[in-house]
Parts: sequence; C-alpha cells; structure tokens
Amino acid sequence: MTLSASQLSMNQRDKRVLWHPFTQMKEWDALEQRVIVRGEGVYLIDMDGNRLLDGVSSMWCNVHGHSHPRLNAALQRQAATLEHSTMLGLTHPLAIELAEALVAMTPQNLTRVFYSDNGSTAVEVGVKIAYQYFLNLHGEKNTRKRFIKMTSAYHGDTLGAVSVGGVDLFHAAYGPLLFPTATINSPYCYRCPVGCADNTTCNLACLEPFEQLLTREGDQFAGCVIEPMMQGAGGMIPYPAGMLRRIADACRKAGVLLICDEVATGFYRTGPAFAVDHEGVEPDILCLSKGITAGYMPLAATLVTDEIYQAFYDDYMTFKTFYHGHTYTGHPLACAVALENLTMMDVPFQQHVTALIAALREHLEQLLRENPFVGNIRQCGLMSGVEIVRDRATKEPFPLANRTGFHICRAATERGIFLRPLGDTLVIMPPHVTSRDELASIFAVLPQAIGAVCQR
Ligand SMILES: *Cc1c(COP(=O)(O)O)cnc(C)c1O
Repeated sequence: MTLSASQLSMNQRDKRVLWHPFTQMKEWDALEQRVIVRGEGVYLIDMDGNRLLDGVSSMWCNVHGHSHPRLNAALQRQAATLEHSTMLGLTHPLAIELAEALVAMTPQNLTRVFYSDNGSTAVEVGVKIAYQYFLNLHGEKNTRKRFIKMTSAYHGDTLGAVSVGGVDLFHAAYGPLLFPTATINSPYCYRCPVGCADNTTCNLACLEPFEQLLTREGDQFAGCVIEPMMQGAGGMIPYPAGMLRRIADACRKAGVLLICDEVATGFYRTGPAFAVDHEGVEPDILCLSKGITAGYMPLAATLVTDEIYQAFYDDYMTFKTFYHGHTYTGHPLACAVALENLTMMDVPFQQHVTALIAALREHLEQLLRENPFVGNIRQCGLMSGVEIVRDRATKEPFPLANRTGFHICRAATERGIFLRPLGDTLVIMPPHVTSRDELASIFAVLPQAIGAVCQR
C-alpha cells in the first residue's frame, strides 16, 4: 500500500494524539492506516480517492449505505428545527413517534421504550431495570439478585455490560470490578463445549446444566441476558434451531426475566426485523442500538413489558422510580434519522435482504469447499463468520502470535475490501443494501487475502 504524502501526514497526526478502541497502539503505529474522508453507497473513500467496500457495515451499524441522500436530508431538516432538548422534564415529537414505531415493530408484549445512547447503555438499562423490578415487587424479601449470561457473550464495555459478558480476552482483566454471574454454554458447535459432534442430533445437551440450574435455584435469578440467535463479538456463533426457544421457555418457567440484546441482530440484520422473531420469542426486555439510526447517530432503546413498567409506577414516596438517564437520551437528531431509517425498511428492502442472505450463504459454502484454510463458516442472516485454521482435519488453529485474522483483513483492505476479524474468525457483514455484484467482489478478494497470509 502506498499512501500519498498528505494521507501519510494525517496518519502521523493521528498517531500523535489518538488512542483507538480495542487497539494495541504499538501495532497501530507500526503500520500505515487509511484516513477515510467520504462515504458513498457501500464504499468508504480514503484521502487519496481509494474506494474500500465496507464489508462490516461500519462496525455493524450501516444499513442503507454511507451518506444516503434521504438520511442526510432527515438529519439536516431536524438540525435546522431543533438540535437537542432534554427528556428530563420535557418531551419532543420525534422521541414519541420513534417509540410508537419501535413498539409497533417489536414483539407484542413490549410496550414501553427507555432511550439511551449506545449498545452498552441499552444493556446496562436492561440489567438495572430487571434488578430493580424484583426489588420494587418484593422489597426486603426479594431473592432475585443474580444474572445469567452466556460464555462468549458480548454486551458492551461499561462495567455492568462487562459483568454479563463472556469474552475472556476483553473481560478477564476487570474480574474484581464485576458482579458475579452464572453461565449458559455458548453454542460453539464447531468446538462443542460438551463434546457433541452434530447439532442436529445432540438435543441441545449444552443447555442441560442451565436448565438444571434454573430448576435448582431459579428463584435466585433476576434476569438472563443473551444475544438471541447469533453471538456477535464472541466470534459469530449462531444458535442451533430451537435453542432460543428452549432458553426462553426455561426462563419463563423459572420466573427469570429474559433480556435479549439485539444491539447487533436488530433491524433485519438476521432476516426478520428482530432475531427473536425467528422462533417467535417474546423477551421481557429488548435492547436495541447499532442499526437503529443506520449508522448515523448514537442512539439506543431498551423496551420492556407493561408488567415491568407497572412495578416502577407508584407514588413518589415509594421510591420505585428508575433513577437512570443520560444527557443525550432520546436525542432529536438521532430520533429523526432513526425514523427515516425505519421508513426506508419497506417491503422491497426486506426482499432484497432475503435475496442477499441466500447469496451470502452460497458464497460462504463455496469458500468452505474450495479453501483449505477455512475450517468453519457460520451465518445468521447477514451476519457471518469464517473461521480460519491451520489444519482443517484437526481444527488446529494458527498460533495466536501469528495474528492470522488480523493480517488477512489487512490484506483484504489492501485489495479494496474493508474487513475486521474476531481472532481468526473473519467477519463478513455487508450493509443490507449491498448488491449481488458487490457481495461477489468481497468473495473474489477473500481467497487472495487468505492466500497472502496462510501457509501450512
Ligand atoms: C456492539 C454491541 C454492544 C455494545 O454497543 P456499543 O454501542 O458499542 O456500546 C452490545 N451488545 C451487542 C450484541 C453488540 O454487538
């Protein structure tokens, strides 16, 4: 890669003042980095005019492509009218309209919307509401104080969200700061946590310890937090059919609130509007962010049932108020873009998503057939992962120090496709509006990028 003098100079300024997220800055400083100045459709364009196909939807947020005229116009209209007004002591029409739209499109039992401004806060809010719900109901007699999470879960980086997270690489360092939790096995079928060979015949044996736990001490738990149907940052791990339903049923039976984190999976990312729709599950609490504004503005929503809402609804002096809120809660600019985004998710949009999911499946299957370094392909809708291994027969990975996934993604970026890895799993998650040809160009580059890095 050769960058122009002006792009290199911007690079150097970056390296003097910035600290990038989830980044070993020593590794960052050692390499030339792209400086993105423009977006157009599914492409990001750097200072030298090089076009990069955005293969990860700008960290899983983008829906309609970059800098879309309709979304730009919605944002500009709103900025000219009202840029921000607080939700503390005041309200505004866009927050109301968007809440109505969210209640209409999510499962029927969800009737109340609490806004915040990112995925982590959406989960924090969900966890705190679940905890206080039982406290408000039972006071001193309350026994439901603990949470259940899934191994390899990712729910964000604030401490409550980290407490219900399960990615050791990200979370282990903070152990002493976290509240204790119980765990459900992640359905990582490629390397099954309970040693089953085939997820069509295993009868979901990995769920048995969780079900036994709930039978034994279910009344100790307030909530169970999961990413329904697809674990994202933990490595793109899809649930086998029936698993979400079984988790939901076990929670319902034990009186444990089911908190579904659809920050990544929401808004048609997995096919239907929400991942819970795959198995007709009605969560008690639903956390949304990322796709809600199509990548334009930070916004999040936590939806709850009327039953939960009512447990907080009482005279002031009962102190059942939910004492939580963020300055940018329900930000009008974000709500305006979110509403336009939802309007654009019409039937033709949904049909395109369905077709693109099928095309993605074919490309993934072809890659698995043809590339000896592809150990496993995993997909739920437009979310997919390609796990790279040294030896397909034994599933032996490359040594961690090789940074294989990292270097493959760099090689893809040099060839015009922006990708980001999760360890040695390559994430392929193009925006919903990606064309078949654009999708094909990702898969034309992938074997070259893998070949440039992997040798036996
Ligand atoms: C990204 C993500 C989060 C955290 O969202 P932020 O906006 O980065 O705080 C939470 N849960 C899931 C499932 C995510 O993918």
